[in-house]
Amino acid sequence: MAGECAPAPIPAVVNPAWANPLRDWFKAGLALVYPEVCQVCGAARSTAAEGFVCGACQQQVRPVVPPFCRRCGLPFAGALTGEFDCTNCRDLEFHFNSARAAVISQGLVREVILRYKYQRSLWFEPFLTGCLLRTAVPELAALRPSLVVPVPLHPVKEREREFNQAARLAAPLAAALGIPLNATLLRRVSFTMTQTRLTRAERAQNMAGVFAVQPGARLQGQGIVLVDDVFTTGATTNACARVLRAAGAGPVWVWTVARGI
Ligand SMILES: [Zn+2]
Ligand SMILES: [Zn+2]
Repeated sequence: MAGECAPAPIPAVVNPAWANPLRDWFKAGLALVYPEVCQVCGAARSTAAEGFVCGACQQQVRPVVPPFCRRCGLPFAGALTGEFDCTNCRDLEFHFNSARAAVISQGLVREVILRYKYQRSLWFEPFLTGCLLRTAVPELAALRPSLVVPVPLHPVKEREREFNQAARLAAPLAAALGIPLNATLLRRVSFTMTQTRLTRAERAQNMAGVFAVQPGARLQGQGIVLVDDVFTTGATTNACARVLRAAGAGPVWVWTVARGI
């Protein structure tokens, strides 16, 4: 397996070819620009539809399987008897009903997500959305949500990155569920520095007041699927869920592609 991939600095000058990654020609052109080779191992054949992750590399992906915490989705090693007292949930008040992830954020998955987000390796997207949809769609269909909402980026960060990965991952989920995506309902109203070096308590503190719901939005008890790429401590999704609930949302179900453990 390839080693961990350090995030590349965002270039100051934007390459016009990447200026709008949503353009259709971009997707159509992928197959021409990139040879059909796995972009993780560089050895085996893999197609654009697979997100350029070959079958052998996909074998390394660890799905999140029971037993896990019913609230925050933390996988629990070993057999479970009775109620699982989750240390993650014990001292944090979560405002979402549940948080679930498709796969564990380790090794290949972690590397792919970092390259996707920070190096604009957008060809991995079908692999990531495939992971998410396979697990999330059957479970969410039973809950009958009304709306899919991605975790927003701060506008400055979104301009730098040129895309919001959560919105891109949320769009095919909304389509598969046959419900609307609302990428403007939540706004990030203050800028936060990277959270990777903060403790759980510091992250929660850091997220207070960061998100707001679009003024005048009427949520009227609607069930909302809140989507992000990775769930780490839950500080970000929890802060989003809090303002959604305060604005009248019904249940909030968090889904992420990956989960840190
Ligand atoms: Zn491979
Ligand atoms: Zn928990």
